[in-house]
Amino acid sequence: MKSDRRNFLKKTSLLGAGIVSIPTMTNFSNLFKNHKSSSNKMKLRFYPYTLDLKHVFTVAVSSRKTTPVMMVEIEHDGVIGYGEASMPPYLGESHETASSFLSKVDLSKFDNVFLMEEILSYVDSIAPNNNAAKASIDIALHDLIGKKLGKPWYAIWGLDPKKTPYTSFTIGIDTPDVVRQKVKEADIYKILKVKLGRENDKEMIETIRSVTDKPIRVDVNQGWTDKNSALKMIEWLKTKKIEFVEQPLPKENIDDLVWLKERSPLLIIGDESVVRLGDVKKAYGVYHGINVKLMKSTGMREAYTMIKLAKALDMKVMLGCMTETTCAISAAAQMSPLADWADLDGADLISNDLFIGTKIIDGKVTLTDLPGIGVTKI
Ligand code: MG
Repeated sequence: MKSDRRNFLKKTSLLGAGIVSIPTMTNFSNLFKNHKSSSNKMKLRFYPYTLDLKHVFTVAVSSRKTTPVMMVEIEHDGVIGYGEASMPPYLGESHETASSFLSKVDLSKFDNVFLMEEILSYVDSIAPNNNAAKASIDIALHDLIGKKLGKPWYAIWGLDPKKTPYTSFTIGIDTPDVVRQKVKEADIYKILKVKLGRENDKEMIETIRSVTDKPIRVDVNQGWTDKNSALKMIEWLKTKKIEFVEQPLPKENIDDLVWLKERSPLLIIGDESVVRLGDVKKAYGVYHGINVKLMKSTGMREAYTMIKLAKALDMKVMLGCMTETTCAISAAAQMSPLADWADLDGADLISNDLFIGTKIIDGKVTLTDLPGIGVTKI
C-alpha cells in the first residue's frame, strides 16, 4: 500500500513536471500530502427541511404543496460539502427513513476523503433503496472533494460550461385558468414540460397552445394504460409541436412499451423505469432515451455513469430533478453539458430556497465558477 502511494506520488510529480499534461492530476500529490498531515475525521451532519411549493403540484398519480428534504453537510479540515435528499412522498422516502439511514452512516472510518469509490460503495451497502438519502451523501462528498481540489465538477470532468442546455419549465395538471397563469410565469423559459395522464390531456395542451407556441415536452407519469389509445394520443400530440413523450405507460408494461416505441411518431423517454445504472441496459430497445435524476441514481457518481452508458448505447439523455433547493440542482447542473435535454427547474418551483448557485438565466442552465457543486448557503 505504501509503495503504491510512493509510486503514485512519483507519477504525479512527473505529471507535474509536464511529462504528461493532465492538469487536474497535479493537485492530487498535494492533496495526499495535506491529507497525511491531517488527523481530522469527516463529520456528517443532517437536518430535515420542508420545501414550500409556489403552486399545488399535480401529476397523474398525486398532488401536493410541500416536499420533504434532508439537508446534509460533510465537514473535513474546516471545509464543508453540502448535499441534499429530496423525497417526494410517492418515492417512499421521508424525513424518518432518511434520518434512520443517515444515522447508520459512519464516515469516521475513512481518513481519506478522496477515496470516493470506496466511501460511496460503503454508503450504498448499508441498506437497500434509500436512494435520495444516499444521493445526499454523494452530493456532499462531491462538493467537499471539488472544494479541496479548488475546481467545480464540470471542470474536473472536462466539460464546457457554455454547453449547458436550456431547461424546460414544468406545468402540473390544473384548470385552464391556472395553466394560463403558469405559462405566463414561465416567460423566461424557452421550453415547457406538461404533465399529462388524467382525463383532461387534450384540454391541457390546447389551453397552452392557445397562449404560446413554445416547444412542449409531455410527461405522462405512467398515467395511460392502453397502448392503442396511447398511440392515438401521441399521434394527436405530434400535430401540436410536442418534442417527446415521457413514461407514457406503466413501467411494468414492457411489451406494450416496445410496441409503442416501434410505432410512435414522437420519441419515448423512460423515467420511472430507469432508476439506477442497471436499468439503463434494460431500457435499451424499450425507450429512445432516459431521464436521469440524482435522487433516483443515488447521486452524481452513478448518474454520470448512467449518462455515459446511455450515450454509448445511442440513447438520448434528459437530466431531470425533483423539487429541490439550488443545492441538488447545482449538483446535477455540473453534468448538464452532457445531456441532450435538461429539466432542472426544481428550485424555481419552491419559495424557500437555502442556496445560491446554478441559476436559470433566460431559460438556460447557468453554472457558477465556484468549486465543488458551485453553491453558497444563503
Ligand atoms: Mg418524469
